[in-house]
Amino acid sequence: MKGYTREMRTPFIAGNWKMHKTIGEAVALANELVQAFGSVQDTTIMIAPPFTALSAVAPIISGTTIALGAQNMASELSGAHTGEVSALMLRDIGVSHVILGHSERRHVYGESNELINKKVKLALEQGLTAILCVGETEQEREQGITNKVVGEQCEKGLAGVSSEQMKKIVIAYEPVWAIGTGKTATPEDADATHEVIRKLAASLYSREVADKLVIQYGGSVKPDNVKELMAKENIDGALVGGASLTAAQFVPIVNF
Ligand code: PEP
Repeated sequence: MKGYTREMRTPFIAGNWKMHKTIGEAVALANELVQAFGSVQDTTIMIAPPFTALSAVAPIISGTTIALGAQNMASELSGAHTGEVSALMLRDIGVSHVILGHSERRHVYGESNELINKKVKLALEQGLTAILCVGETEQEREQGITNKVVGEQCEKGLAGVSSEQMKKIVIAYEPVWAIGTGKTATPEDADATHEVIRKLAASLYSREVADKLVIQYGGSVKPDNVKELMAKENIDGALVGGASLTAAQFVPIVNF
């Protein structure tokens, strides 16, 4: 966005391990990443192992520059919610970030903007940083309604979130058709949607909030396309799925 100051934002690369890795495999990868990034200071790094591996990974990355993220959380703090994991439990094991509204949660598990908004507000109340994922389907892109869909997901996902709380919000723009498919939005297309999101943040909040808002791109980010994406003015980081599962791919992405 013209005149918006990129210097106000620290690059943020996050790895979403999805439903991959046993505890042993997660520990091994976390150890490799600590070796690689122990001292990286100029980029925020986060890994989101599956729930079952969080407590084993937590002590390995504690005190390093790698933050611990969860891939989802319940919309309630406690109670009769079989199969759910709450923000309290996540905080208890050292989680600082949570991915909310990932396209697989929206499209495979039917999560609505309203449910995601409830989770976003709860995560913030509990002191977690929320990565709010938004993105259009291929059909929506073909219909030319990308900006409308993404705008609505942002607006509804952030309903009731204050300017102060926006300091703990990260937006991940992930076109659904680019996730796990090997197809990537062109850096220009991704940057244009990021700019729409940043302008929306300016109109919903303020110029300062928009300036500071970290917007990640996600969708088949790999070592060979990360540099081009990160060169764009409004792309502040990446949410990486498949390529975060090995140090061989994730390390060069972080060191873009
Ligand atoms: C993701 O899961 O958020 C993602 C972007 O996956 P991939 O990098 O595999 O496309």
